[in-house]
Amino acid sequence: MIPSFTLETLPCRVVFGSGAVADAKTEVERLGGRRALVLTTPQQEAQGKSLGATLGPLYAGLFSGATMHTPVEVTEQALAAMKACEADCVVSLGGGSTTGLGKALALRTGVNQLCIPTTYAGSEMTPILGQTENGLKTTVRNSAVLPETVIYDVDLTLTLPVALTVTSGINAIAHAVEALYARDANPVTSLMAEEGIRALTHALPGITEKPGDREARSEALYGAWLCGVCLGAVGMAMHHKLCHTLGGTFDLPHAETHSIVLPHVLAYNAPAAPDAMTRIGRAMGLSDAARGLYDLARRLGAKLTLRDLGMPEDGIDKAADLAVTNAYWNPRPLERNAIRDLIARAWSGEPPTTASTAV
Ligand code: NAD
Repeated sequence: MIPSFTLETLPCRVVFGSGAVADAKTEVERLGGRRALVLTTPQQEAQGKSLGATLGPLYAGLFSGATMHTPVEVTEQALAAMKACEADCVVSLGGGSTTGLGKALALRTGVNQLCIPTTYAGSEMTPILGQTENGLKTTVRNSAVLPETVIYDVDLTLTLPVALTVTSGINAIAHAVEALYARDANPVTSLMAEEGIRALTHALPGITEKPGDREARSEALYGAWLCGVCLGAVGMAMHHKLCHTLGGTFDLPHAETHSIVLPHVLAYNAPAAPDAMTRIGRAMGLSDAARGLYDLARRLGAKLTLRDLGMPEDGIDKAADLAVTNAYWNPRPLERNAIRDLIARAWSGEPPTTASTAV
């Protein structure tokens, strides 16, 4: 029998395709925008300028100061830039950091957002904004931050460095993995999750062999979109909480942390989420999903140890304590010692084993 469920689909227009960024002007007009502020990181400023040129008379200016974790002081600078050029909408071009800045501006001013993602982070599909002030990260869930329109153009992802492609791709897979065992899982989101995992695990090896492979890049971007929908549609569990804690406490990079931790959390949750494990394994064409993800990350050349990201060894106990401090829902209850064990494995890079899956 199909279990009871509630599903609220989020209103967002998606334009997907090679060369789709050429539609940016039409899409801004469709939103009623007359003066668009383009947002990028400093690294993608040149791409932002080219995009500005295609917007023609709608181009109001560029703010290229987007950075990780959406610091409030950067948002304030961007607000001043918006005011100075009298922008009435924003076009964010980049990864989760740039998308986050667009969301922060929408939250404060109500402007419409056209978002053009160039990584696989998935933030563009969620009504969630994480921001930092005085080193403290807080998360807001508000439908006002969901971008109105998203353009996925595979051509813009061809420059994403292979290492970032791999970790960003596994970061996306993490959204789908947790969607499959979410407390509020539903049949539609689960279909998207399984297909998202399939598309990404199929595409990533091809991209590492040939970074300019447009077909593989296109499949990865499609998978990332599906995984982003999952992140926006249902609640996440221990993997996302743990990565949030590790990232915030030890200042670890977002996508790499997800990529290292995911196989270990999956091994922890496996005994409590057999259906999800079957679906993840089916999507990957493997019987052991946790080991399969670890092997995939290794094969793709991703870092496998939190130690290599700069986490101190004496942080393992601290992280385990923090992970069980604020209770949250997870398919398997939070057991401090087993969680410590999985963090220790992620720290040293050992494969996930049944030792950490004992219930
Ligand atoms: P990022 O946006 O920080 O990008 C990393 C670097 O890669 C940047 O220098 C960027 O300019 C560059 N880059 C991006 N695309 C490129 C391309 N195609 N070619 C060349 N360089 C490119 O990294 P990210 O992993 O996409 O995003 C991480 C941030 O997003 C974190 O702060 C995270 O918390 C947030 N996030 C939020 C949500 C949400 O729902 N709120 C979801 C996922 C991630």
